[in-house]
Amino acid sequence: MDIVTGNMGWIEVIVGPMFSGKSEELIRRLKRAEIARQRVQIFKPQLDTRYSVTEIVSHSGLGIRSEIVRDAAEVLARVEARTEVVGIDEAQFLGESLVKVCNQLADAGKRVIVSGLDTDYLGRPFDPMPRLLAEAEEITKLLAICMRCGNPAAHTQRLVASEDLIVVGASGMYEARCRRCFEPQLAHEKVEAEKAGKQTAASASAGSAH
Ligand code: ADP
Ligand code: ZN
Repeated sequence: MDIVTGNMGWIEVIVGPMFSGKSEELIRRLKRAEIARQRVQIFKPQLDTRYSVTEIVSHSGLGIRSEIVRDAAEVLARVEARTEVVGIDEAQFLGESLVKVCNQLADAGKRVIVSGLDTDYLGRPFDPMPRLLAEAEEITKLLAICMRCGNPAAHTQRLVASEDLIVVGASGMYEARCRRCFEPQLAHEKVEAEKAGKQTAASASAGSAH
């Protein structure tokens, strides 16, 4: 943000696919706020337990301590009056009320920095991030590197057989892909292939019982 007078709050959103550096960028901004001696509180959802339970850790190993919350309401309840900067990672898991909570915090004069996936494993907008992008003062969209071809990548490719919206994991389960290499139907195909495999195995064992 440029010149801000008085104790005006605002919302900054960092989005992009997995591996695009959202956590790194969030940690960078929060560490700079701490260097400026601002009071910082950092939150992440309970779901994401990658590497550490009391820290946000990027895929490259950068870390910053954080508080774990179940939903957006808990963020609001935990923010102290004297806190000046509120950081939230993996915000796509905190539910629709996140938008209201971020606005309340910004209205109360706090700088709110939110990082999260803007699209899901099928490439669809991932609620509540699209609404948050619409209501934020500042937006940063990051790209990763496509693991197939090296181009800039805006998509999160799921590599495992599951059609649940939320499957927590990192490398091995997901990779960054560009528009050309993204295969949104891959997870579905893997689920179907597993089903077919199980059926074949079941009919084979049923056959052997006779
Ligand atoms: P995000 O929070 O967006 O998932 P992180 O900040 O945790 O991203 O991790 C970013 C880091 O991941 C990069 O600095 C790099 O070291 C590493 N990385 C691994 N795979 C890729 C990729 N395909 N494209 C870019 N960075 C990658
Ligand atoms: Zn590609």
